[in-house]
Amino acid sequence: MTQLSLAKWWTTLENNAVRCELCPRHCVIPENAHGYCAVRQNHSGELFSLAFGRPVSIAIDPIEKKPLARFLPGTRTFSLGTFGCNLGCIFCQNDSLSRETYTETDLGQFIPPEQLVELAQEHHCPSISYTYNEPTVFAEYVCDIARLAHAAGLKNVLVSNGFIEDQPADELYPLMDATNIDMKGFSQSFYDRMCQASLAPVLHSLEKMHSLGVHLEITTLVIPGQNDDLEELSKWLDWVDAHLGRETPLHFSAYHPAYRCRIPRTPPATLYAIRDLAVQYGFPNVFLGNI
Ligand code: SF4
Repeated sequence: MTQLSLAKWWTTLENNAVRCELCPRHCVIPENAHGYCAVRQNHSGELFSLAFGRPVSIAIDPIEKKPLARFLPGTRTFSLGTFGCNLGCIFCQNDSLSRETYTETDLGQFIPPEQLVELAQEHHCPSISYTYNEPTVFAEYVCDIARLAHAAGLKNVLVSNGFIEDQPADELYPLMDATNIDMKGFSQSFYDRMCQASLAPVLHSLEKMHSLGVHLEITTLVIPGQNDDLEELSKWLDWVDAHLGRETPLHFSAYHPAYRCRIPRTPPATLYAIRDLAVQYGFPNVFLGNI
């Protein structure tokens, strides 16, 4: 019989509906339906995590691929992801995971947290990365693995969009040793238009990670005409300077057309101009990717 894990961070509503309080989307989920991320499902008035125990992508990557430039450099990280995402980015570069969900056959499989930690150790990886899709949607699984990983002397790495509620973040974030937060754009209008989401919770998450002392790097996928305006970027650099500090490593990556977005790929010159601006602003750790 399929084993489903009870989710955390939800409340009961009338008529066996529930409200998920894991991310700011606060999905109201009727009986037998799932939330926006497609991996949290209401069964008989209780919310279950379909993704708990069901990684669909496992690999060993260089830590620089997360990307993290200033954390355990030169090491390999045991990486895993599931289906599902709580944002709706029309330019998603990984929609085969983020926009998919589990079939009945998938749900018959289960990998307990202990097994993943053992696998990471067998492959001599000093860290485990929660990555590929959005780890917020499988936060319960991340927390359980991360606690065991720490007990085994391994580090935890979160690669996230930062779109999470305070209560789960307060449980998840202190278990992390390093994180790369994906800063999709620098304005509410970008998050509305391109991601069906909001900017403020992401900024809040960045500040929370910083205040916890978790190693923090930030990545932006640069999309021509959407988030490559240098004036807007200047304001973003001011924000990082004021709230996180100029030492924060910043990654800017080239986008390529994917999912529902047909804007042509990012020219290298755009990335070079962004790097020049950030360096002029006094940011010493600026990295370009996908060029
Ligand atoms: S985690 Fe998923 S189900 Fe929960 S509020 Fe966010 S999108 Fe909705």
